[in-house]
Amino acid sequence: MPELPEVEEATGRLRSAALGKTIVRLRILHPALARRFPARAAAAVAGATIQRIERRGKHQLLHLDDGRTLVVHFRMTGDWEVGRVEEPEPRFARAALDLTDGTRVTLTDPRALATLTLHDAQSAPLPALGPEANDPAFTAEYLGQALAARRGAIKPALLDQRVVAGLGNIYAAEALWRARISPRASARALSLERRRRLVRAIRDVLDRAPGGRYWIGEREARWKVYDREGKACPRCGARIRRITQAGRSTYYCPRCQRS
Ligand SMILES: [Zn+2]
Repeated sequence: MPELPEVEEATGRLRSAALGKTIVRLRILHPALARRFPARAAAAVAGATIQRIERRGKHQLLHLDDGRTLVVHFRMTGDWEVGRVEEPEPRFARAALDLTDGTRVTLTDPRALATLTLHDAQSAPLPALGPEANDPAFTAEYLGQALAARRGAIKPALLDQRVVAGLGNIYAAEALWRARISPRASARALSLERRRRLVRAIRDVLDRAPGGRYWIGEREARWKVYDREGKACPRCGARIRRITQAGRSTYYCPRCQRS
């Protein structure tokens, strides 16, 4: 699943390919997308210019000059592929934006779970999101307020996009390991000192993540706990454990991550 740094990198590629350009046509190529994006809506974006491209959490927003916004979320396996309009469609093409200079930006997605929606100028294009991890507003004090009314463990709370925008399953586990906090620790009971460590750890893991494409295996070697069940904790040597929390796998070290 693309995590924040990968989405950021993909947004950069989209920006270099499409910013300031005018849409010739938007083609919706997969029925799952077409159900939420009727042909009429797709036809209506023809002629609009892409004025600004923004990332918020894992959402990518294409602001059009007519005030409307195209919003893309990659979900599990989405990505951009940049080419020319005369080239054949890439494999797993789900939607394609043809631009007036002959550039084609294709949303590719083997699992076809990515979403693409169009929002008019009057409606809010995104649900409420917390601050970005690298936003100065994301502090230990903020985290204390955001978690104060929360029941349950810290790990599922970190995946709630209203708490912090864009943190996914892998980096939530890695950040908790780095901060030496058990994923089962009570979210609202975390001390200020532990919240400070956690905020630092979240920024660290996101900073160190390569912004490259995400299917290459090279990066897995860098994970300290994620997907390492039964292997030795790089810090204390205890065996990494896997549990399920809120339907997601969580990996952690039962010895050096304390609740
Ligand atoms: Zn350990």
